[in-house]
Amino acid sequence: MGEKRFETEVIHSGYKSDEFRGSLAPPLFQTSTFTFDSAEQGERRFAGEEEGFIYSRLGNPTVAMLEERMATIEKGEKALAFASGMAAVSAILVALTRTGDHILCSQGVYGCTFGLLQLMKEKYEINHDFSMMSTREEVLAAITPETRVIYIETPINPTMRLVDLEMVADVAREKGIPVVVDNTFSSPYLQNPLELGCDFVIHSATKYICGHGDVIAGLAVGPKEIMSKIAMTTQKDIGGVISPFDAWLLLRGLKTLPVRMDRHCDNAEKLAEYLSGHPAVEEVIFPGDPKHPDYAIAKKQMRKPGGLISFKIKGGQKEAQAFINKLKLIKIAVSLGDAETLIQHPATMTHAVVPKEAREKMGIKDNMLRLSVGLEAWQDIRDDLEAAFEAVRKESTMESGSI
Ligand SMILES: *Cc1c(COP(=O)(O)O)cnc(C)c1O
Repeated sequence: MGEKRFETEVIHSGYKSDEFRGSLAPPLFQTSTFTFDSAEQGERRFAGEEEGFIYSRLGNPTVAMLEERMATIEKGEKALAFASGMAAVSAILVALTRTGDHILCSQGVYGCTFGLLQLMKEKYEINHDFSMMSTREEVLAAITPETRVIYIETPINPTMRLVDLEMVADVAREKGIPVVVDNTFSSPYLQNPLELGCDFVIHSATKYICGHGDVIAGLAVGPKEIMSKIAMTTQKDIGGVISPFDAWLLLRGLKTLPVRMDRHCDNAEKLAEYLSGHPAVEEVIFPGDPKHPDYAIAKKQMRKPGGLISFKIKGGQKEAQAFINKLKLIKIAVSLGDAETLIQHPATMTHAVVPKEAREKMGIKDNMLRLSVGLEAWQDIRDDLEAAFEAVRKESTMESGSI
């Protein structure tokens, strides 16, 4: 099969039904190990002289199908699947660095990635810095002679600021530094960093790729040679591999990714507009808003502005918490990209591990909320938000004694 369009590849790539007795759905190889015909065959497999499976930590057919499909849709050479997004992040960062090296990060990263960077610094003296990366000059100024990795999230969780991937990749190429992009917020449907010149892409597949809130998993895509080495070292020996069943669920989830993303994005656009006009809202941060500081970058590198909205409520932590407590349809939960609309309070949840000072520097204020827009009818999501705003307003007017 030659190159097909994205919507076709998510359904067909990586799987040939005629190789599996015509089974339309990819089979689930729920097995820990694989038997050899003979001692000599075992010897050849271990020596790498014969293709074939050995043990599911080293490779599994269902997992291999997922990896092939993922490499195709992220337009990379080779993908590896992991037990979690963090297993993917840590495998790539550990593989690309050694003691004394420096990692340059976007101004804001996932809370546990922040924790991992801290751990690498304390235990292995691998340092890091954060940069807005708004201009070439800013990126160049932040690179040190020890910089071995540029690590970017865009859109950044949860501040929704963007980084111009083509520009950073261009600077990094001149310096010979690989660029790693956590593409979780966009999914491969909205943004393909490898096509923009970056070197590695990471996903928390837990989010949009799964899409149904029932799997924890990670994926990484990159150059064949390095990824094969990672498979046989960091992944095999540290061992954060995906289970075959979770890989099977991801193969299933991927089939509907474009359809789901279109709805997530359409709903988000309508809800961002609703929130922008609300008197109880101080600020809405959505890359599809022409007033967003990085709107031009969103237009340039994303197919659509995504399904996540951050917004600041008038007041502080107390007001933010009171508001989400009044929601009924929208669930209070971390994670994102599910069919259900989810809301969370980054300062006390996903980014509670980041010290307040660093948090504020990243732009995460106590009155900020992050909404992962689901697949429900957008009017029902809006009505739930409106009812919660109204309930909070009523309570506060009662408290102030004006009724
Ligand atoms: C959730 C998330 C991760 C971590 O993924 P897990 O699957 O929870 O380990 C990393 N990066 C981003 C942007 C995320 O949203």
